[in-house]
Formats: sequence, C-alpha cells, structure tokens
Amino acid sequence: MNRGRISIIGAGPGDPELITVKALRRLESADVVFYDRLVSDELLNVCPAGTMKIYCGKAPGQHALTQSEIDRLIVDYARVGHHVVRLKGGDPFIFGRGGEEALAAAQAGIPFEVIPGVTSAVGASASAGIPLTHRGTAASFAVVTGSRCAEEGALIRWDLLAKSVDTLAIYMGVAKLEEICGQLVLHGREAATPAALIENATTSAERVVTGTLGSIAQSAVALKIGNPAILIVGDTVGIREMLYPAAAERRYIG
Ligand code: SAH
Repeated sequence: MNRGRISIIGAGPGDPELITVKALRRLESADVVFYDRLVSDELLNVCPAGTMKIYCGKAPGQHALTQSEIDRLIVDYARVGHHVVRLKGGDPFIFGRGGEEALAAAQAGIPFEVIPGVTSAVGASASAGIPLTHRGTAASFAVVTGSRCAEEGALIRWDLLAKSVDTLAIYMGVAKLEEICGQLVLHGREAATPAALIENATTSAERVVTGTLGSIAQSAVALKIGNPAILIVGDTVGIREMLYPAAAERRYIG
C-alpha cells in the first residue's frame, strides 16, 4: 500500500521548544523533510538518521527553490510513497505559503494534513511582554505583511488598518519601516503611538527596541535591526515596561 502523504507543519517562532507535540511526532517519522531558512537545526536533528533533508531557502530575495518547484517536489516524493514533511517557520498558513502547498497536494490527490505552529507575532508578544490584546486597552489585533507596502498599496489597507485595529503585528517590514510607519500616521494613527520591533524573537539572539510610530524607524537603522523582525504597534507595547521594569533602563536609544 502506498503510504505517501504530506504533513505541512509549523515549527514555531524560533525557540525549538515552541513546536507542537504533534508536529514533533511528524518529524520523528519523516522520510523526507523540506525545510525553510528560519527553522532551527535542533528540530531537524529530531528526524531519523535516514531522513532526506531538503533546504528550500527563502531568505528575502533569494530562493534556493522556487515555490512551484517546492509544490512539485513535495507531491512527487509523496506520490512514490514517502511521508513528506514540509517544515515551515511559525505557522504554515500565516505568510507561509502553506495554502499553496496544501492546494498542490489536494489537486494531485495526495493525502495531506496541516499542523499549526506558534506564529512569530504570538511568540514575539509573549517573549517581549507585549500582550496583543489587553482588557481595556486592546480588543483586536491584526497580522499584516509589510513587504508589499509601496508596490501594492491597494492590497494592504493602511487606511483601514491605521484606525480600526488596536494592535498591529507587521511581518516582513524591516526594509520598509519608514514607509509603513508613514502610512499609518498619514491615515490617522498618532505618531506618539507606542511601537516595538522584536528581532529574532524567542531565540537567544532576541533584541527588542521600543519607541513610537514616529521614532522606531530611525532607532531600527541606528541599531541595525535586521531580518527576521516583527513590528508591533499599539498601546499594549507600554505594558512591557510594567511587566519588566528593567526593560525601561535597558531601552535601546538610537
Ligand atoms: N509563517 C511565519 C511567517 C513567515 S514570513 C510565521 O507564522 O511566523 C517571515 C517573517 O516572519 C519575517 O520577515 C518576520 O517578520 C517574521 N518572523 C519570523 N520569525 C521571526 C522571529 N524569530 N522573530 C521576529 N520575527 C520573525
């Protein structure tokens, strides 16, 4: 009987301990693993000795394999009977292109499953002490991509997001911070709104920079904040210094 199937699994935000038990079990029985750049080596080491490990890349602008090659390869390996595990940073369905891979499996008639992961905004929120919602302060949050800020302004509704969502978690925005913050202020969010950038969230290399919508882009340049990082905008950013008073003293000054 052909046991070929595809498990599209979330690795969590960075700390390898933040993977789910179910996803870990899939790694332990994988024949082939296709993994992304932001996935910890510790997780790959969980695979049996004979597991084939295929790197998919995806540093911004550099792809070891194109998305259509990945879609084709996972299907091809499953079709010949392998248990294919597609290991993705964070959650597969949040800016992870997991939907495209699931569609490729569905269209090829290959059995598949999707196992969620802790998305990086949720990991960053917990480790930086910035609740995404907080009674009396924030009743809603949105995850937003910052990478298409200028090119596809029409797709990202900064005009609506600026004022109708309490906390914004912006992914892939490091290279466009000034434009993103500018759009939010242009559409009515106060320049004094607290903002935080969390780089390498949940890992030993984590750095947190806090400021305001008006100041954070400059601080990020001064401190050379790079990928991967999440921008969190909203009043709950202020809770960090209440939870961790020492963070106020350690606040990075650009
Ligand atoms: N599927 C992933 C997101 C992939 S898009 C998830 O659910 O988290 C890649 C973006 O995720 C990066 O540009 C960055 O904004 C964010 N990201 C991923 N890992 C991160 C980390 N450890 N710390 C901060 N941001 C991270």
